[in-house]
Amino acid sequence: MSRRQGPVVQDGWSAAASKGTPLSEFAALGLSEPIIRAIQKEGYTTPTPIQKQSIPHLLEGRDLLGIAQTGTGKTASFALPILESMKTDGKKAPGKGCLALVLAPTRELAAQIGDSFLAYGRFMNIRVAVVVGGVKHGPQIKALAQGVDVLVATPGRLIDHLESRNVRLDAVRHVVLDEADHMLDLGFLPPIRRILKELPKKRQSLFFSATMPKQIGQLAQDMLDRPVEVTVTPVATTAEKVAQEVFFVETSRKREVLADLLGDPAFCRTLVFTRTKRGADRVAKYLTANGHEASAIHGDKSQSQRERALEAFKAGRAPVLVATDIAARGIDVDKVSHVVNFDLPEVPEAYVHRIGRTARAGEEGVALSLVDGSERGLLKDIEKATRQTIKATDLRLPGAAAQEEYPAPAKKRRGGGGPKDQAAPKAAAGKPARKRNRPRRNRSGQGTGRSLAA
Ligand code: AMP
Repeated sequence: MSRRQGPVVQDGWSAAASKGTPLSEFAALGLSEPIIRAIQKEGYTTPTPIQKQSIPHLLEGRDLLGIAQTGTGKTASFALPILESMKTDGKKAPGKGCLALVLAPTRELAAQIGDSFLAYGRFMNIRVAVVVGGVKHGPQIKALAQGVDVLVATPGRLIDHLESRNVRLDAVRHVVLDEADHMLDLGFLPPIRRILKELPKKRQSLFFSATMPKQIGQLAQDMLDRPVEVTVTPVATTAEKVAQEVFFVETSRKREVLADLLGDPAFCRTLVFTRTKRGADRVAKYLTANGHEASAIHGDKSQSQRERALEAFKAGRAPVLVATDIAARGIDVDKVSHVVNFDLPEVPEAYVHRIGRTARAGEEGVALSLVDGSERGLLKDIEKATRQTIKATDLRLPGAAAQEEYPAPAKKRRGGGGPKDQAAPKAAAGKPARKRNRPRRNRSGQGTGRSLAA
């Protein structure tokens, strides 16, 4: 069967969901008893929009292109129908083989997906293996030897196992590529293409991405056969679900302001984002020294350190987790009360991903951002992408506001006409004002104003 791209069907779920007992909506999607029982154990009562829109098609064997980010219930949207098909088929994987292959960009996300399959398949006796980098090969080889129903892997480590012939992919019936745009960011496209070559032509393929850059669109086209396309939570919708606020604050006072905020008991489980790994360590250290037990998670930490930090956060022993974007991608912790952007991310998509860690699956959440003078442009970009104006409170000390000159509405220069004045119309369009208003920095990266050094 050729895997060509057919016409994309944009169709929502139109079957009448029965309004009877709780969970009957899941049954109406075509899921059966052991899976519904597992869903009940998870505490879900109604399917999320992506589940409603994709599960019936996936049960029919269709390919899927899902434009969705975490927090939408997308993992269950692919795990549940895959488990249901396995139940119906009753097939067994050969030694070293698997029936479903899920590719994820990070170890955390892979572990999370593996846990989800185990949770949803808890009444089905399924075998799940998670194969990721940063840990020993031995136990993974052992787990793969007898064959598994579901293999969740990061691309690099899967290639290692393919090359060592520890795994075969010729029995794969379902393949899922999760967070494809993030795979691109991490340089995983070549290994993914290499892995796809190992798969049988006759298979069901599912492709999830929050955004569709060109290369990702091309990969989806090569991988999918006449997919159903489901789009949920466009950027603006996700952002709207979360109560957001911005605090203008001097760079040098961010840590202090954060520690103050955390003094409020409402901040019961807070995820703090920093742009750099060192920043994450520094913030976690400062908070712990100031009475707020915090741990840091980022790419330089070993797998066991990451797991310990995540465990402590989940269990509530460390109510604050400080993370970089990459490390946080796979974190799925329920009931994150607050997300704090200690630094704003460079791209608006990352902001949406970050704040999506709170207000999971319909719950309420709060996202706060500490914004210094140099981040005003980033804030503008975020507001533009999410089509909103975020409420802002100025927490700068008296005097700092005047020095940083923001918010900086473009002003008409007096006496116009000279060459210098040609900048004014551009500033009115919101462009070069960013650079001019940036506070001057000394070598340590701190602002130079008196109050900034306080
Ligand atoms: P995901 O988008 O897959 O990362 O899922 C986000 C969160 O939503 C996870 O914590 C899931 O356990 C939860 N979840 C998934 N489906 C449902 C549902 N139908 N009802 C309530 N919570 C759900």
